[in-house]
Amino acid sequence: MTPDDVDLSSLRAHHFLCLTTFAGKGYSPEFVANMNRVFGAAQRGEIARLRATAEADPICGACPHLQDRSAADGCTFGASIAARDRRMLRAMGWRENQEVDFAAAIAIILERHRDLMREVCRGCDWATICGEERFTLHPTTADGNPQGNVLAT
Ligand code: SF4
Repeated sequence: MTPDDVDLSSLRAHHFLCLTTFAGKGYSPEFVANMNRVFGAAQRGEIARLRATAEADPICGACPHLQDRSAADGCTFGASIAARDRRMLRAMGWRENQEVDFAAAIAIILERHRDLMREVCRGCDWATICGEERFTLHPTTADGNPQGNVLAT
């Protein structure tokens, strides 16, 4: 994946929730830079419809914990990550690989944020860093640049 080539056709289910709490921190500088790109694209409304999956996605693509992109369980955290995806799929009433409207999904997630975090994020090491929703759709300034928490790396 090149720096400006972010595939936005899918997200693993629990990453919808991660996007709402992203605070500019992550597993490595490359991970944060990639997350900033996905987060910025999401905020600018560049994600329309995409599949909710339980496998490696564009966020995993720059993660040092991704061992095998072709394997559904290619994340070093394996079963716990898969369980987190399943909890998010179940909580949202989505089937695996279901195509969803991104803006509508985020609106529901923000409405149910506290309950979803309690259900989906339990056991996650990042839970103390996240914990409050930060995501706002289309918070662009007059010059078209995103504002808010799109942090430089
Ligand atoms: S920790 Fe696992 S699920 Fe999370 S971004 Fe990295 S590879 Fe993906």
